[in-house]
Amino acid sequence: MTQQEPCHPQLTVVMYHYVRPLAQSAYPGLKALKLRDFLGQLDWLARHYSMISPQDLAAALHSGARLPPRPCLLTFDDGYSDHFQHVFPALQARGLKGLFFAPSTSLLGGRVLEVNKIQFVLASRDQPCGLADQLDALLSREGLADPAALRAAHCLPNRFDTANVAYVKRLLQYVLPAPARSFAIDALFRQHVTADEAGFAQTLNLTPDQAVEMRGGGMEFGGHGDLHLWHGQCAPADLQGEIAGSVRALERIGAPVRGGFYCYPFGEQTNAVRAAVNLAGFRTGFTVQAALCDPLTVDPLQIPRLDTRDLPCDARAPSNPWLESARKGAA
Ligand SMILES: [Zn+2]
Repeated sequence: MTQQEPCHPQLTVVMYHYVRPLAQSAYPGLKALKLRDFLGQLDWLARHYSMISPQDLAAALHSGARLPPRPCLLTFDDGYSDHFQHVFPALQARGLKGLFFAPSTSLLGGRVLEVNKIQFVLASRDQPCGLADQLDALLSREGLADPAALRAAHCLPNRFDTANVAYVKRLLQYVLPAPARSFAIDALFRQHVTADEAGFAQTLNLTPDQAVEMRGGGMEFGGHGDLHLWHGQCAPADLQGEIAGSVRALERIGAPVRGGFYCYPFGEQTNAVRAAVNLAGFRTGFTVQAALCDPLTVDPLQIPRLDTRDLPCDARAPSNPWLESARKGAA
């Protein structure tokens, strides 16, 4: 503890997705966190932060409980078997408690989410370098869209991806109309990954029994939609379907809904989304805004999160701007 700990600790929440021994896996090109780096990051975090549980955070947000200096919560999105095989044992060995978000289609449906199909298409070993060109050709051939206009508007790099990769993701995630999007995703997934979606889902996704075992070991689960749709762009009935799916998944594994946790897919949320999530009983919501927050003043339905890539993966790594912000605390 430093001599001048702030009286308002700044909360750090870290977001993870895939965590696996990447080099030995079937898709070494997947955008995943290597298990070795995950373990290094846990050691770095343990050196500098007070690791808290989801329940600690809820008590601070909703009952005014005090948090220790530089509190840090770990969250894991999308319900992968990685979380049972690699994350759960690592957290247990360190006495840590994580918060996991599994969409109901992954957890209960035995299907591969479209967002995951896109990731594995991008990671496939035989991927031609011009996946963006291939997508354009598919859209032209099928008369689904005008690639030239799409390129001009959407072929731009973002925080983590090159222009071509970001272009493919944007088109397949939300730019194309839903039918064209699904058609293109399925065509590319069959061509580059597999035609056996059910078999692929079995190895990719967490099972309900694994989730129950993880809860028994001190982990917690929150809602993450049904089909993992962009909630802010859903028609009201679709938004209700996403939230109802979340409730179904949590009830299946005995996790809390009333007073529970919700993670907006892609971090996307609006006033209407937050109101619907709150109405269903969830009290704490997570976004993907890269920031720290003051638990005393933050909207509990808009908790920001850092990405794992924002922090070091080596226990001996020196400080980092986010750690400096956590040290300064709120004014
Ligand atoms: Zn997600």
